[in-house]
Amino acid sequence: MTRVYNFSAGPACLPEWVLKKAQEEMLDAHGSGMSVMEMSHRSSAFQEILDTCKARLRRLMNIPDDYEILFCQGGGTMQFSMVPLNLLKHSADIINTGQWTKKAIMEHQKLGKTQVIASSAEDNFTYIPKIKQEDLTSDSDYVYICENNTIYGTKYKELPPHEGKLLVADLSSCILSERTDVSKYDLIFAGAQKNMGPAGVTVVIIKKDLIGHAKENIPSLLDYKTYADNDSMYNTPPCYAIYMVGLVLQWLEEEIGGLEEMEKLTRQRASLLYDYIDQSKLYSNPVAKEDRSYTNIPFVTGDAELDKKFVKEANEAGLVNLKGHRTVGGMRASLYNAMPMEGVYALIDFMKKFEKENLA
Ligand SMILES: *Cc1c(COP(=O)(O)O)cnc(C)c1O
Repeated sequence: MTRVYNFSAGPACLPEWVLKKAQEEMLDAHGSGMSVMEMSHRSSAFQEILDTCKARLRRLMNIPDDYEILFCQGGGTMQFSMVPLNLLKHSADIINTGQWTKKAIMEHQKLGKTQVIASSAEDNFTYIPKIKQEDLTSDSDYVYICENNTIYGTKYKELPPHEGKLLVADLSSCILSERTDVSKYDLIFAGAQKNMGPAGVTVVIIKKDLIGHAKENIPSLLDYKTYADNDSMYNTPPCYAIYMVGLVLQWLEEEIGGLEEMEKLTRQRASLLYDYIDQSKLYSNPVAKEDRSYTNIPFVTGDAELDKKFVKEANEAGLVNLKGHRTVGGMRASLYNAMPMEGVYALIDFMKKFEKENLA
């Protein structure tokens, strides 16, 4: 068996420790004589899996008691609608930093008054627009951001000012990669398939007092209160995905040693690759240095044909899913928690070799 280094932006690689543990427990999970996929979500065995998963997330991220953890479905994308359905009373201020905020804007516009208060669209989203308190709309309920822009490789290093307003953030591609001060946010959401587990579950971390104020007559499953009142089990939850997230959290706690340790690894992975790209004569990264993502790193050679050749040859060398998003082109290396340092070294070695062979 040979495992490749998988640089996919999502669904993404998972820690081998987690996959092996899942394999071990496949036929008989927690002494139940069955796999987690076959369990009733009403069983005590599954309840324990859910409780442990929640407790681990609360410990790891230091989530204060006045925040609720909810497990939803529908991906990050469903949150683009759930957020306004639950929080938008007057209007929403959104900062447009790429594909994932564009889609959030589109859903917001169907449901209420929406202002795009800043955008880096004219520069193909290569930086994070800096806003001031004065840029906010007087009657807006919240400021909405995508903290790490998976496609363009940008990240907020400082949160925007939002005095007197709620802060809502999409952390899909950076959650658990570093320490997060949850108390600075009012609602955080993240689809699991980037850095938390497999696709199928979306984690929502929401201030408790924001629950129960949804628009009237909306479907039950779009109201955060339905999830909060029923321990995320109003209907059948994505049991196996929750179980896998639980294993990833266990790995983070017991094998890595928490988010402070993971943050060091995240920064180390990213600086190894950026340092190499910055001194290289062949590759470049288009993002403003202070806004560079630690988890998604796009790069180009400046020649579309050469980029294609790079992706093909890298793939043959066991470095897969390096093709950039179709709206950016070139390459993108996603360096999430499960990417071992050896994977980063292998990528850089390959890049060096390719540079030598192809630099005119
Ligand atoms: C992938 C991604 C999404 C969309 O997630 P789905 O689960 O496909 O709906 C939203 N936001 C960000 C930042 C993402 O990276």
